[in-house]
Amino acid sequence: MNAIQDIRDRVPALAQTVYGKPLVYLDNAATAQKPVEVIELLNRMNSATNANVHRAMYRLSDEATNLYEGARERVREFINAPARENVIFTSGATASINLVASSFCAKYLKEGDSVIVTEDSHHSNIVPWQLACEKAGASLKVLPIDENGVWSAQDIIPLLDERVKIVAATHISNVLGIINPVKELIEIAHRYGVPVLVDGAQGIVHTRVDVQELDCDFYAFSAHKIYGETGSGILYGKEHWLEEMPPYMGGGDMVGTVTFAKTTYAPLPLKFEAGTPNFIGSAALKPALDFAWEISQGECGKAVKESESKIIAYMKGALAEIDGAVLYGESQNRIPLFSFNVEGCHPGDIAQILDKMGIAVRTGMLCAEPLMAHFGVTSMVRASFAPYNTLQEAEYFISGLKRAVAMLR
Ligand code: PMP
Repeated sequence: MNAIQDIRDRVPALAQTVYGKPLVYLDNAATAQKPVEVIELLNRMNSATNANVHRAMYRLSDEATNLYEGARERVREFINAPARENVIFTSGATASINLVASSFCAKYLKEGDSVIVTEDSHHSNIVPWQLACEKAGASLKVLPIDENGVWSAQDIIPLLDERVKIVAATHISNVLGIINPVKELIEIAHRYGVPVLVDGAQGIVHTRVDVQELDCDFYAFSAHKIYGETGSGILYGKEHWLEEMPPYMGGGDMVGTVTFAKTTYAPLPLKFEAGTPNFIGSAALKPALDFAWEISQGECGKAVKESESKIIAYMKGALAEIDGAVLYGESQNRIPLFSFNVEGCHPGDIAQILDKMGIAVRTGMLCAEPLMAHFGVTSMVRASFAPYNTLQEAEYFISGLKRAVAMLR
């Protein structure tokens, strides 16, 4: 049996039709579809194990706590974090980055200091740092990309000085699909004593992430892009940073003792998990990561790699043949994600026509306005593939795109 079809059979949303056409879902970089194991866990918890974690002495709460903490252990293992204390549940990559930008910078970022971000950053890896810089009277520096959308780790050297307090780097751009040399960047930044946060919203899905091998100080990602539930995400942090950083939000669960005179905080990881967490969504990370792991291993993993290589080769070739098409981002090191424009055609019009053919793609600024400015455009069309997408879907997409272009010109 075909390994890719086997994966598809486990993801019910893929079997639907849109306007009477089979759905071709190519917006995976925004949200991936869920396998049955994730849906079943969400249903089970919503219908039976819906009880607050960590709080109560009764069976349902115990079960919910075990599922929540079990998912934390699965995340720890998946990214090879040293301990559960390093794994903080958040509401997503955005919340994880805001946590660090707010808490780390409150302690370490002072007037006249700076933060470095990479030019290919999502708004989530720009704006939180700008807010922190404004608060501290610090400035934002940018590690630039070249005309291909590639940044070089070496180019950070001239930007590094004793006033740089943290570097925030994109692992894989959600616009360009390029896998960046974050390990090399981390090595260089560390030589200058500067910690590095990696925005792994796309990186966690498409690469094997070992936080100890990467030696990153922080790694942020969302569950919903890796087959999990929306409103759940992870912040990995090195223990000494997390210990030294002040709490981000105050409330229940993150405290030791509370008096009106003084409050002490709960030990890690709960110090950063104030209030009732999204325990159902977070618990679903276990089956989500089990699924991600399973489809990346053995014969199935090999089939996925082969399929993705074929899709990349086909898409690059087919887009190059369309008159006036420009694909943004050129690198050997890429994932099957393609952002492009076609001369004379508005991206929004292309997407609307494709939608009527059952094809779901993303258009607009893709939450990366500075990157749009770099390429001199205000909008792009993005087709982002997951392991369950087939070469036949890529072919259908290209034939649909050709029809759309012919209609619009
Ligand atoms: N960074 C990157 C590279 C992303 O692709 C995204 C989501 N598109 C985010 C950050 C933000 O993720 P979320 O909206 O799930 O918090």
